[in-house]
Amino acid sequence: MNIVFISSEVAPFARTGGLGDVVGSLPKGLQRLGHKVSIFMPLYGRIRRDEFKLSPTGFQPSVPIGDKLVTGLVYSANLPDTKIPVYLIEKEEYYNRDEFYVDPSTGRDYADNCERFSFFSRAVLETIKSIGIRPDVIHCNDWQSALVPTYLKSLYKDDDYFEDTLSVLTIHNVGYQGLFPKEDLRVTGLESGDHNWKQLEYYGKINLLKGGIAFSDVITTVSKKYAEEIQTEEFGGDLYGVLKERGRDLYGIINGIDYSVWNPEGDRLIPATYGPNNMEGKKKCKKHLLEKVGLAGKRDVPLIGMIGRLAVQKGIDLLLECWDELMKLDVEFTLLGSGEKKYQEAMKSLADKYPGKASVCIGFDNQLSHEIEAGADMFLMPSRYEPCGLNQLYSLKYGTVPIVRKTGGLADTITPSVGFLFESYSSEEMLKAVRGAVETYNDRAKWVGLMRAGMLQDWSWDKSARLYAELYQDALRKLGR
Ligand code: ADP
Repeated sequence: MNIVFISSEVAPFARTGGLGDVVGSLPKGLQRLGHKVSIFMPLYGRIRRDEFKLSPTGFQPSVPIGDKLVTGLVYSANLPDTKIPVYLIEKEEYYNRDEFYVDPSTGRDYADNCERFSFFSRAVLETIKSIGIRPDVIHCNDWQSALVPTYLKSLYKDDDYFEDTLSVLTIHNVGYQGLFPKEDLRVTGLESGDHNWKQLEYYGKINLLKGGIAFSDVITTVSKKYAEEIQTEEFGGDLYGVLKERGRDLYGIINGIDYSVWNPEGDRLIPATYGPNNMEGKKKCKKHLLEKVGLAGKRDVPLIGMIGRLAVQKGIDLLLECWDELMKLDVEFTLLGSGEKKYQEAMKSLADKYPGKASVCIGFDNQLSHEIEAGADMFLMPSRYEPCGLNQLYSLKYGTVPIVRKTGGLADTITPSVGFLFESYSSEEMLKAVRGAVETYNDRAKWVGLMRAGMLQDWSWDKSARLYAELYQDALRKLGR
């Protein structure tokens, strides 16, 4: 099959979370199965053109935005260490900014996000035609490219070029929907009052994800459990009805991880390598991490690591609630994260209360994230909800035993044979799980058994990429293509 991925993030070019990791690695799995894959993303100003050897393709897609015609430039590169082409759409005034979605000076989404991603979506479709890709499958990701399936069933519905193309939308997180005022309809090119606007309509506003859900041939999300959860009001919010309506076309496929990037046996970002049969290197990694983040590390107490976006989803409230209790335990704690200001400040001041025992680093730091995965003993993910979660899978590989809340992808990937789980969203339950982990840590043989069991699991993309390929094939067959 000829498969095109469209995404606002692709690792290692640009990423803020799991979306980038997935779109930077699933295509490799599909290529290994013999499929032809290409990827489209915006060319953000932050992307280092020299490092990734970007070159101009000469394609210049023009897209009507309101009453103006906007022209972009297309660059291309290969996904590092592969021959998978990545096409990057350049438009200075849209993408050459400090952040991808949020204006750092106000902390709010950029006011023209609807225009930025409408342009992106249409520019990609135009470029696919200019290059002559003829895709069997167009696989979109989250609200930023959710307009593509909508366009395919509206502006492009009479275009023979895409007649046989299957559209797939993966929802990586239903909490982010691309919600805009109705006036922004103008920049999408869709017309008020027409059929398509109705599918995007959401309490008088435009909801790009809702449109994508309505118009995609197939919808997927990133774990089986989350696929069930989002069809309930608690997790699917206001979109649960639409998701339920499309339930027959909605599938959950767990994410894989890219072991060429996340593997302690070959990781170049950590001070010593190690594996399930020789864990000596992990001790060095812990010592290095403790020094780097300014923790005492005098005695052998378990070090709890945490990495992630500081958002309500990630369960930061639970930490805030029981911080003093947690700090009474014989543990050390290190967190790396960025996100909402109130959480950044709260976490900073909690760490300041326990110098030498807790450290908090605010920012996005790929190097430190590898060092924490390798150097910590335990990895805490007390998420309120978690579509898939990748850090618990990285943690398994690094022998860093996960302590997770039993929700979404965490429930689908962590069992008591490799980690610790708690069920209800409460700080007491979380503390109980941490206490259980600390107790087990002190039983060395048991602990090493737990680490090894996790390290030996296989969460590579092979299985999940095959599931995607089968899903594409079945759906194409059903549509008679
Ligand atoms: P989400 O997509 O909800 O943010 P995931 O667990 O699926 O959560 O993926 C998060 C990815 O982003 C992981 O690769 C994680 O290491 C990375 N990440 C998140 N926050 C940071 C940070 N502050 N610094 C470095 N990497 C981060």
